[in-house]
This record gives sequence, structure tokens and C-alpha cells, in this order.
Amino acid sequence: MVLTRKRVLPTAMLDSLSPLIAALRADGYSVIGPTLRDGAIVLAELTSASDLPHGWGVELDAGSYRVRRRDDDAAFGHSSGAQSWKTYLHPAKVPFWTAQKTSDGFTVDVPPPDGIRYAFVGVRPCDLRAIAIQGRVLGSSYAARLESAFIVAVDCTEPGEACFCVTAGGGPACGPGADIQLTETVGPRYLASAQTTIGQAVLDTLPQQPATPAEREQGATAVAQAAERMQRHLPSIDLRDLLSGSRNAARWDEVAQRCLACGNCTMVCPTCFCTSVRDTTDLGGDIAQRWQTWDSCFDLDFSYLHGGPVRTSTSSRYRQWLSHKLGTWHDQFGESGCVGCGRCIVWCPAGIDLTEEVSALAQERQTDHE
Ligand code: SF4
Ligand code: SF4
Repeated sequence: MVLTRKRVLPTAMLDSLSPLIAALRADGYSVIGPTLRDGAIVLAELTSASDLPHGWGVELDAGSYRVRRRDDDAAFGHSSGAQSWKTYLHPAKVPFWTAQKTSDGFTVDVPPPDGIRYAFVGVRPCDLRAIAIQGRVLGSSYAARLESAFIVAVDCTEPGEACFCVTAGGGPACGPGADIQLTETVGPRYLASAQTTIGQAVLDTLPQQPATPAEREQGATAVAQAAERMQRHLPSIDLRDLLSGSRNAARWDEVAQRCLACGNCTMVCPTCFCTSVRDTTDLGGDIAQRWQTWDSCFDLDFSYLHGGPVRTSTSSRYRQWLSHKLGTWHDQFGESGCVGCGRCIVWCPAGIDLTEEVSALAQERQTDHE
């Protein structure tokens, strides 16, 4: 896949996604997409379109998630679940090497790349942006996984109650980065367009009809209405400036009284990328392994320097997370680190809402200046 193509308008109408999933599987891809499991919509391997969560939506709030029955059979009538695609592109646990004790020393094996070619079906616009953001941060392993991946993106026609992509620099229409772009319409049926040459090669093999102007209009209207239904918002001010000027805000202590420093927000965030290196041994001491694992700036040890952590309070750790995400990320990577997916709001056990915290910081700053 490529990350630079501009969006191509839909040319085809698909009656089903089964031929697409079958074609990708026949091409050797491990096809990953949303499915219903244990009362939640999760990402898992799809063997056919019947694995998609047809007829299921979600009800979300800060610290609250539940699936609900829809009154239609939409496969993508839900917003993103707890997992993001970093589960596959930037895995939570990666082995670096294994050392095995021998009679005269030890051997070291470095595992080869797993060689899995993923096809991601149902990537939302916010997650498409997050994939690109992580691509600008992470190194060659990520680039190799992404390069071999096939991405089927889906416009968002059903924003979740925690979503705020429109005020996070995005929106419910997919930007660049997909191989095939879909818009789900009534039926469900799917407006489709190829965004890359390999996307076109796959799309050309699928049963389809030409998309009519009325069908295109129906899809465009559904996406535009999704933007209008977005319930949460970031304040329309310079957030980098707000965060850099809020280092001593009283709000950090207030949020720290609720924050459990559990790190859930960083685990579910599709752009959070921090890792640590951990060594393990077996009980006999014959085998040692080095792993790269996800880490979190909410972990006390994360800021361990010269004999102790430098961010000992929860307020300093929450401030670090939010200030990096919305502020200093611009200095490092030239953009915000937040795509407005709302996961950190939904999966925070304390129900802490990033948009509320930013608004409170903006209010505090305004009060200080009056
Ligand atoms: S900070 Fe929250 S809303 Fe923003 S990208 Fe991360 S999880 Fe999504
Ligand atoms: S903001 Fe919420 S999810 Fe994040 S560390 Fe605090 S309690 Fe956990």
C-alpha cells in the first residue's frame, strides 16, 4: 500500500464483501477485521463476511461500552473498539532474541520476521490517520509490516458518542492510505473505489455494478451527516500553545484525584507508541529472552532516570501524556498525536474525558488572563 494517494471517488457498487475477503485470503493475506466476541466488537481473523458484526452497534460514554442490536444489518454500524491496528503493525510484545545455555557458553537466536501479510478490513478514517502517524514515528519493522499490508478502509457513517475526529483535524471520510475505499450504504451494500494499483487489481476481480450518481450521493450524504452528528469536540484554539502555557495549571491536580494511572488510555490509543525492553529467564536459568513490550508514560518506572523516576505524581504523568499528545507531538512530528477516535475516553475506568480536560484547561487559562 502507499500513503500519498489522494482519495479516488467510488466507481463500483458491491452487494457483498464475501468475494473481497475470499480474494484476499486466496492471495495469501491474513484478513483481519471487526467481529463480535464476548459482548464487544474486537479485531480478529475473518474467514468470510459473515464474521463481520452485521446488525450490531455500540453505546458509548466516558468509561462505558456496550454493544446493542441495530435495526438494520450494517457491518460497520459501530465505531472503533478497544483495539486498534497497532495490535498487528506495532505488536504489544515482540521477541528480539533468545539465548540458550550450552556446555561451553551459549547460543543466541534472532527470530526472523513472521512474514505474515495482513489485510485489514474496516479501517476507519481516524485509524487510517493513526497508522500514518505511527509510520512517521516507528522504524523499519513497522514500515515493513505496513508495506506488505493491504488496507480496506471504510468511511464512518455512524460516529460513536465519544468520537471527535472532526475537531482533531480529521473527519468521517477516509483520507489517503487505503488500497480500497468503501462506503457502507443501505442493504448493506458498498460503494467502492481503488486507491492504489494493487487495490485496483483486487477490485477488478470482484462482482460489481457501476456506482450510479444517486448511490454516490447517498454515500456522500451519510458521511456528511456523520460529521454533523459528532457529539464531542476539542476547543478551536491553538492546543499546542494551550498545553505549553498550562504547565502549572491547577487542573492537573484535579484530574489526578480521579486518574488511576492505569495506562489504559495509552494502551488503546492508536498513536501511542512507547516501548520498553524487558529480559526474562526460565526457572532453570538455561534460556534468556529479550522482548520489546508496550510501555506507558503512566507507569512510574517509565521516567526512571539516575536512581529514580522523575515523574512521581499522577498529575505529572497525566500532564506528560496530554501535553505530548496534543502539544509537543507537533514539535517532534509536525502534527497532533490525537486523531479523535475517543478510545481513551471510553476505556478509561475513571471516565476521564480528554475533551473535557482540554476545555477545563482552556477555561482555567482564560480565567487566569482576566
Ligand atoms: S488520545 Fe484518545 S482520542 Fe486521541 S487518538 Fe489517542 S485514544 Fe484516540
Ligand atoms: S486517564 Fe484514565 S485510562 Fe488513563 S491512566 Fe488515568 S485512569 Fe487510566
